[in-house]
Amino acid sequence: MKTLFQKIIDREIPAKLVHEDDLCIAIHDINPQAPMHVLVIPKKLIARVAEATIADRATLGHLLLTAAALAKKLGVAESGFRIVINNGQDGGETVPHLHVHLLGQRPLGWPPG
Ligand code: AMP
Repeated sequence: MKTLFQKIIDREIPAKLVHEDDLCIAIHDINPQAPMHVLVIPKKLIARVAEATIADRATLGHLLLTAAALAKKLGVAESGFRIVINNGQDGGETVPHLHVHLLGQRPLGWPPG
């Protein structure tokens, strides 16, 4: 069965697209936790970062570089931003398809909740 994000990648569910390339898409989060909250999602299904393998290293690197490029494009590179990957139940993962959260446009508290 397809994950929610696979359905978005396949255009079966609508989303606000920010970026797409051969390895990933980026969309606006439907329930933003900051004025800017974007998800960078690999097209390859990797359930969570703990299940990535050495074969995924280029994809993992690409997700971070894309998030950093989008931070620049969306105007938060100067003010700052946060990149988050939730993994598993205690990590707050709700969609079992790896995604990088990019959050910004407000001061973000630390430690996270
Ligand atoms: P996580 O809890 O780390 O697995 O993150 C899943 C994220 O997906 C949450 O921030 C949700 O708000 C977001 N989300 C769920 N459904 C959609 C959707 N249809 N379009 C965009 N974002 C979504």
